[in-house]
Amino acid sequence: MILAHLPRFHLSILAKPSFSLSSSHFSFLNPKPSVTVSRTLFSFASKSNLATVEPNPLSVSDSTDLDDAPVEIALDKLFIPPETDISGEDSASLTTRILKGSNIVLSKYARDAQVVQADYVKSSVKTEDCPADGLPEFALVGRSNVGKSSLLNSLVRRKRLALTSKKPGKTQCINHFRINDKWYLVDLPGYGYASAPHELKQDWNKFTKDYFLNRSTLVSVFLLVDASIPVKPIDLEYASWLGQNQVPMTLIFTKCDKRKKKKNGGKKPEANIKEFQDLIQGFFETTPPWIMTSSVTNQGRDEILLHMAQLRNYWLKH
Ligand code: GDP
Repeated sequence: MILAHLPRFHLSILAKPSFSLSSSHFSFLNPKPSVTVSRTLFSFASKSNLATVEPNPLSVSDSTDLDDAPVEIALDKLFIPPETDISGEDSASLTTRILKGSNIVLSKYARDAQVVQADYVKSSVKTEDCPADGLPEFALVGRSNVGKSSLLNSLVRRKRLALTSKKPGKTQCINHFRINDKWYLVDLPGYGYASAPHELKQDWNKFTKDYFLNRSTLVSVFLLVDASIPVKPIDLEYASWLGQNQVPMTLIFTKCDKRKKKKNGGKKPEANIKEFQDLIQGFFETTPPWIMTSSVTNQGRDEILLHMAQLRNYWLKH
């Protein structure tokens, strides 16, 4: 059972979510919900479908895939998008609204998620040089080798698009890819290169932080964390900085297909994910959205696109 060990809280959840919004961002740092609804834990295993707003019904019996096993998650650990009312939902109907392998509830804004076109646009060295057409964007960031290029390619279903970001001279840039001529996926420099000189590391830090704080069209940062290895302090630092600066963040756990054997001392992705979530809990007043992914099996691909669609469509309307 995936994430069977997620912390079980004494559940209380707001009947109507009250995410306060900064000018252009979702904020995940609001006071905890206060209306007690029930103590029920929800299990979910719904399959997503990009072609439809409505999630498909619960479906577990037709699959032996581990990823399809029901997951139990505490109500107050769900990510409930703004303008999404779950107060009238019973456990069964809420279950069908949670994206598989995530804590994300689908909202009415989850539409137009398909990627039909993806084009590399430009590489910028400063926030001011980024495209100025006002389209919403999502930034992918993570430690080097976390699987960022693989994920980007998997999202746009192109084998080599992200190679652009790996070309010499582009790895330290803000790389913009326009999707469907409507929004951007942004590839940011990987952090944590052991061999990079100190000054260069500092510089990357400054430049990505400036982008996070000043890019008005940034809808959410997607922080990639390798779920196949134990928690790295540098990832915790990154998550904590984003939390403290109220930069909207979605956690993308990568390489969830890698299942380490206990006898070799390795933990399973689920255990690493739980540890990461426990450790960052203090930085956020409400649980940030998270999604389990694998670029090998394409797990989480549709879920990421649906999540991006609902954040984007909400952002465009407000
Ligand atoms: P980047 O440096 O963050 O862009 O990472 P890459 O996408 O280049 O991936 C780094 C390494 O991890 C490569 O050897 C990939 O084949 C491998 N990798 C990436 N994603 C996955 C995944 O989901 N599962 C597994 N098993 N390996 C992956």
